Amino acid sequence: MSPTTRKIVCFSDFDGTIFMQDTGHVLFDNLGCGEERRRKLDEQIKSGERSFRDVSEEMWQSLRVPFEDGFEILEKELEIDPGFQEFHQFCVANNIDFNVISAGLKPILGKVLASFLGEEEASRIEIVANDADIKPDGSEWKPVWRHDTELGHDKALSIKEGRALAAAETEESDIPLIIFIGDGVSDLPAAREADVLFARKGLRLEEYCIENKIPYIGFDSFSDIKREVEDIMQEDQQRTGGVGNPARFNPRANMWRRISSRQAVPKFVAATPSREEKMFLWPESFSEYQPRTGWRKSSA
Ligand SMILES: [Mg+2]
Repeated sequence: MSPTTRKIVCFSDFDGTIFMQDTGHVLFDNLGCGEERRRKLDEQIKSGERSFRDVSEEMWQSLRVPFEDGFEILEKELEIDPGFQEFHQFCVANNIDFNVISAGLKPILGKVLASFLGEEEASRIEIVANDADIKPDGSEWKPVWRHDTELGHDKALSIKEGRALAAAETEESDIPLIIFIGDGVSDLPAAREADVLFARKGLRLEEYCIENKIPYIGFDSFSDIKREVEDIMQEDQQRTGGVGNPARFNPRANMWRRISSRQAVPKFVAATPSREEKMFLWPESFSEYQPRTGWRKSSA
């Protein structure tokens, strides 16, 4: 029996959050360009020398093995957060929507989840990520970007559209609580738009939250998240009876509420990877937060 009548919607990062490692790094380091080259390529993104998309394509295309071989190494190397499955089952039991948002490749993430959780349970998780065209003989691994344009211009536009929608009317009786879970810098833009933010302890997202005074709850495993969410559900029910704004309410989370209430997650969440991509491409433009004056510039 759920302790709350309020709808709850979770959005979670994948690499470093649900899994302790990064799926791309495991593949490139073991079967593709190798760790040294991969680090060099990462540097090229950070320096702005090459675009995220360009470098990502080179990394993925350095793989020359069938999908199954790649998957075998992922199964061996990846560790799932020890509390994740229990948390996800708790979400299912309490009618909490759980969505994965990632700049990775959807077929890989889907298969990894199915392998660790079972097909049936994995099928309940909505994955919003880039698609991929992987030749059966492994001769080509090609990301199919959600938007086929120079980095995210149309996606930036859809962020603005989403904001405008969010500013519009909200059903008074049905305001879901929005939870975001992540670990890295790329999660920061999305994280600012949540009612409740969970950041993996000791990693960049937590550091950013501390530096920028963004409220967050640290976690070591999804078991911590489950406990906290149970408390939040109780608190919310006691204080609001599940009606009107959630007890923990961030108006900036309205953009997530809009998409979740319209059941149109892919349409608008598609905007999120573009912000992630931008952070990879121009990390400096996302580190201009001034503790006293706030964000000097936002590229979205
Ligand atoms: Mg991550």
